[in-house]
Amino acid sequence: MKTLLTEEQLGEGIRRMAGEIKKHYQGRPLTIVGVMIGSIVLLADLIRLLDLPLRVELVQARSYRAGGTRPGPLAINVDLLSESIQGRDVLLIDDIFDTGRTLWELIPQIDELGPTSVRSAVLLWKEGRSEVTMKPDFAAFTIPNEFVVGYGLDYRDQYRNLPYLAALEPHEIEDDA
Ligand code: 5GP
Ligand code: MG
Repeated sequence: MKTLLTEEQLGEGIRRMAGEIKKHYQGRPLTIVGVMIGSIVLLADLIRLLDLPLRVELVQARSYRAGGTRPGPLAINVDLLSESIQGRDVLLIDDIFDTGRTLWELIPQIDELGPTSVRSAVLLWKEGRSEVTMKPDFAAFTIPNEFVVGYGLDYRDQYRNLPYLAALEPHEIEDDA
């Protein structure tokens, strides 16, 4: 495993992104919606940097990688939203924008609930992997196409608790074909 971003580097990138988000919303009330599970560490750090009137909500998206590193069917559950987002500015928070399919499928489902706007912020953007026409509105870092873990991201339920971001070496990834 090799370190890709240290704790300090993660902190700097997230502060920079928080600054862009604050500038964009100009003190307006915001509903932050974290996409579980990978975004929880980012969510916890980011909300403490946003001095806006905030509500925090969660949705669940499980794409794949339950058993490995390859995409599979995508399951989205927005029933966890407890408060109405009608008439609210919504910012979706996810760990990583890879193929983009998660946000691409989630955004229309959120749109149906009548928010004023829906934008997205991600910790990591694997540029060049996108299979959709959208881009995240805010991204703290762009990274190369490697399978990464730590700071909320797992491999087979491990490593979410690493305080830094690491890329797995090919020999650390079991063949999950
Ligand atoms: P997308 O739908 O954009 O292809 O993928 C988004 C989801 O795939 C992320 O929220 C994350 O759960 C998972 N994912 C994509 N790339 C990686 C990676 O390099 N490491 C880990 N741990 N998960 C990833
Ligand atoms: Mg995810």
